[in-house]
Amino acid sequence: MPWETQRAEPAEVPAQPPIGTALLRGARGRCPVCGQGHLFDGYLKLVRECSVCHAPLGRIRADDAPPYFTILIAGHVLLPFVFMIEKAWHPPMWVHMTIWLPLFAIVCTLLLRPVKGAVVAWMLRLGLTGDEQGAPIVVPVRRGPGDA
Ligand SMILES: [Zn+2]
Repeated sequence: MPWETQRAEPAEVPAQPPIGTALLRGARGRCPVCGQGHLFDGYLKLVRECSVCHAPLGRIRADDAPPYFTILIAGHVLLPFVFMIEKAWHPPMWVHMTIWLPLFAIVCTLLLRPVKGAVVAWMLRLGLTGDEQGAPIVVPVRRGPGDA
């Protein structure tokens, strides 16, 4: 599919709920604004806009924030258990690796999507809708069969 760069039009964001409500809706994978439309099209890809309230969700670029917060949360939840087990039983390193590496991977995989939803809700609440400083937005362009 061909791509072109278009100048971003300022996004019109409907009236927003309180920040706590928006964060919870985002974490549940729902539109942070209306709470009814879906936020994701797949595991982590955002929908272009909310199907109900047309909030411009797909223009928000969360970048590295969701993985950062996911690792932060997973580390604070699991590391105390790693240290408690090490202090109590001193298991060999291969036991730690066999238990903790898959567990960290599973916890991070389960946390990443709700954390990204909450980050997107937070960014939308802050007005970070992807058109800051007139940054161009890459959009797919449909061409007819006669176009070159
Ligand atoms: Zn919506």
